[in-house]
Amino acid sequence: MSARTTNAATTASTPGAGARSEKEIIAELLQTVSASRLTLFLQCRLKFFFRYVLSIPKPKAPALHVGNAVHAALKARNRARWLQQPLSLKALHDSYSAAWTDESEGKVDWAGAEAEEKAIGWRLFETYLREHPLPEDLKPDAIEVSIEADLREHGLPRLVGILDLVLQSRIIDYKTSSTTPNPERVAHTHEVQTSGYAVLYRHNTGQRELGLELHHLVKLKNPKVVVTLMPPMSDEQQTRLFHLMDAYQTGLQRGDFVPSPGMQCACCEFFNECRRWK
Ligand code: SF4
Repeated sequence: MSARTTNAATTASTPGAGARSEKEIIAELLQTVSASRLTLFLQCRLKFFFRYVLSIPKPKAPALHVGNAVHAALKARNRARWLQQPLSLKALHDSYSAAWTDESEGKVDWAGAEAEEKAIGWRLFETYLREHPLPEDLKPDAIEVSIEADLREHGLPRLVGILDLVLQSRIIDYKTSSTTPNPERVAHTHEVQTSGYAVLYRHNTGQRELGLELHHLVKLKNPKVVVTLMPPMSDEQQTRLFHLMDAYQTGLQRGDFVPSPGMQCACCEFFNECRRWK
C-alpha cells in the first residue's frame, strides 16, 4: 500500500469497512469488476478508494434515488412483457412507489422536495411509456440478467454486470439524466459501459450483438427521451476496454489511489475527506 493511500485512510472514518483489512478488500476487488466500478476508478482513484475500500457511508443522492425508482418501474414493465402478461398502470405505479420507499442504499436528504421529486420521476416514466411502447407481440431476449465473463485468458479480472434489456439482439441500457445528452459525445462517455455489456453478451450467448442503445430519460420540466443508437462493439473498442481493465488491475495491485481534481469534484460526496488527503 502506498504512503499516499495510507494517509488518506487514516484521515477518514471507516465504519463500513467491517473486520476485513484493506488488503483483503483490495484482493476481493481484484477478482471481479463491473463497468460502473471501473468507470469510477478511471474517474478518480481516491473516490474509488473512499467508496469501495473504506466504504465510507454517505447519504444517497436524490437524483440516484429517482433514477432507481424509475428503473424499478421499467423493470416491472419489461418483466411483464417477458412473461407475456398484461400490466396495469396502477401495478407499474406500485412498483415505482415500492422502490421509492426502499432505503437500503441509505436515506436521502430531500430538503423538503420529496413529493415534487417523486412526481417528476413518475412523469418521466410515463413519458417513456408513451414514446417507447413495447409492441404486444415482442418478447425481450433477456431482462435484468446478471451475467459475468471469465477474462483470465487475457490476464484480467472477471467482468460482471446486469443487462437491463436485450431486445432482438440489441442491448438496451436505461439512464436518467437532468440534462439532454449530446448524441455524439454520449457514445464516447459511456463506452466503458457499453463495451462491457457487449463483452458480457458475447461471452454468454456466443453471438455478436446487433447494436447497443442508450435510452436517456431526461428530467426536464417537459420530460423527454433521447435514444442513442450505436453499432456493435468494434475490435478496437474491446481492446480499449481491456487496456482500461488492465490499468484497474495494476492500479489496485500498486495501491495507487491518487486523487484526480477536476470538474467532477463539484458533486463529489467525499470532498471533505479528499481535502485532508496528503
Ligand atoms: S473531490 Fe475530486 S479529487 Fe477528491 S475524491 Fe472527489 S472526485 Fe476525487
